[in-house]
Amino acid sequence: MDPAAAVVRWGSAGLRDRVLPGLSDGSLLAGFCLTEPEAGSDAASVRSQATARTGSWLLDGAKVWVTGGRWADVLLVIAATAEGPLALLVEAGGDGVRREPVEDSLAMPGAGLADIAFDRVEVPADAVVGRPGMGLSHVAGVALANGRLTVAAGCAGLARTCRDHAVAHARSRRQDSRPIGDHQLVRRLLARAGVASNSADLVYRWAAAGLDERADDAGHRAILAKYTAARAADEAADCATQVLGSAAFRAGHPVTALVADARVMRIIEGTDEICESVIGETLLRSRGDSGR
Ligand SMILES: Cc1cc2nc3c(=O)[nH]c(=O)nc-3n(C[C@H](O)[C@H](O)[C@H](O)COP(=O)(O)OP(=O)(O)OC[C@H]3O[C@@H](n4cnc5c(N)ncnc54)[C@H](O)[C@@H]3O)c2cc1C
Repeated sequence: MDPAAAVVRWGSAGLRDRVLPGLSDGSLLAGFCLTEPEAGSDAASVRSQATARTGSWLLDGAKVWVTGGRWADVLLVIAATAEGPLALLVEAGGDGVRREPVEDSLAMPGAGLADIAFDRVEVPADAVVGRPGMGLSHVAGVALANGRLTVAAGCAGLARTCRDHAVAHARSRRQDSRPIGDHQLVRRLLARAGVASNSADLVYRWAAAGLDERADDAGHRAILAKYTAARAADEAADCATQVLGSAAFRAGHPVTALVADARVMRIIEGTDEICESVIGETLLRSRGDSGR
């Protein structure tokens, strides 16, 4: 997710002036708070509630699995209102915001994951991003499109790293007095890792070009890239594990840590199944020119 992109597109002039310089130079960090204990893929069912007051909103609710939530200075929170979903940019250090680090995640242990509770948090009206009713379709839509691109790019690096470890091991590990890379079946694993790595690399660049060029199908490209690259990273990690054999199961081996990270990419920013539903629906609605 990319909360900054949502502020660029939908934030008020005052909000943009206040946070974009810091978000651009890295002195401010942002987290994205959509998922709740009972609202995952079904984002429309969020229970966090924003209530209108004079000149402000009162926010109550609980969010889980916030990437960077431990360190974030501001949080883009999606909450329900009487007029539909609302996006608010909330000060993470403000009164009523409580962060609980997620210590037991099997994936992305270095991502500063946190569960975050909001208890009667007063949010000024100019911290609203977009308008009530636009929180999911427009604001989260932009944050997720950019976020899916960054996930796809990360997957490309992940797949490449797994491929490189597999190739290095296939060269150096000897069985039957010869490198295991001499075996056709090991070469097939290398080929699968190599194809996965290259396809992830190509698809994220194609999606990035779509966003750069403000192409009509930029959102479609981003979700297609995230889906393809996540599956490619998972495939490359699986092939690398197979080539490494028992070596992959020594704690501390670089590929060991990447296996769970690769797998979780098929769940975050839209699970495989949600991506498939959206891609399929887009294709059905198109006149045959989608996914160019
Ligand atoms: C490491 C990590 C980091 C994360 N970072 C963030 C973050 O920064 N911000 C944030 O808001 N969230 C974050 N999340 C949460 C993540 O976005 C959700 O886990 C994801 O959206 C899936 O929700 P869920 O886990 O509740 O699974 P569920 O929605 O309960 O899905 C479980 C299974 O049911 C399937 N399913 C559900 N609905 C449908 C459907 N309509 N059609 C077909 N299949 C369906 C799913 O595909 C999946 O296979 C993170 C999660 C993890 C693990």
